[in-house]
Amino acid sequence: MSASSPRKAKPHKTVQAHAPVSTNAPAEVPQHVQAKVSSNVQAEISSNALPEISATLQADVSLNEKPVRYIIQNLERTYGVPENRRAADPLDMLIGIILSQATSDVNSHRTFAALKKRFPTWDAALRARTATIADTIRSGGLANQKAEVIKSVLRQIKDEHGTLDLNFLHDLAPEAAVDYLSQFRGIGPKTVACTLLFACRKDVFPLDTHIFRILRRVGLIPQKCTDKRARAIMDAVVPSGKFYSFHVNLIRHGRALCRPREPLCERCPIAEYCDYGRSLI
Ligand code: SF4
Repeated sequence: MSASSPRKAKPHKTVQAHAPVSTNAPAEVPQHVQAKVSSNVQAEISSNALPEISATLQADVSLNEKPVRYIIQNLERTYGVPENRRAADPLDMLIGIILSQATSDVNSHRTFAALKKRFPTWDAALRARTATIADTIRSGGLANQKAEVIKSVLRQIKDEHGTLDLNFLHDLAPEAAVDYLSQFRGIGPKTVACTLLFACRKDVFPLDTHIFRILRRVGLIPQKCTDKRARAIMDAVVPSGKFYSFHVNLIRHGRALCRPREPLCERCPIAEYCDYGRSLI
């Protein structure tokens, strides 16, 4: 069986479609997390008219049986407790993350520095031609595309607020901040989540291919799961204040042990909580 391919999942306890959502969860899942899971899933269910969607979301309630706190603790013991030292200006962060797409960290840092050197203020970048921005960030790849997104984001912020400043995001609730950033053309859910988690320290969970792979193997999200559903599950089950640690340590774990091919389950600190790991015993 391939570790990365969908496999027959261990049966979760599920509730019947349209039955009341259970808030039963093991003792290790604290009350406020259980309540958050229940209310978030209920909200999604009530906002969906399609019965089959309601049924799958209700089935997700069983996912809160995973002891997320212990998983986070074990990862922290292995990889450390990451500190978010990146807290920064939200607009700087948003543009930095746009530049980081499809390139290495080194390249994206270099192109961000080049952009800041050429345009010391974002107003100066807004006044520049898109082609000039693209030339400045050429070494980071997808330069024309990224330059268009940057220019259009800057223009929209300036038109809406009269100033190029996203610091008001600090004062918004996570959901409202997500809604605000999601409206921009060319800004995807991962960029939104990274901006809010890294710059504003909000409880929003960024997902990428590697994190998806680990969460599926562990059984924290179903094998078949849309991005939106996975985000709703993670936002519900991760304890407040642990989003950054869990996100960073999952990335470290994906590089060190839970690799795309041949994961090193025998050395894994969360094997006892992992559906895939337990299937090997
Ligand atoms: S036991 Fe650990 S390394 Fe193996 S699949 Fe699960 S999380 Fe990945």
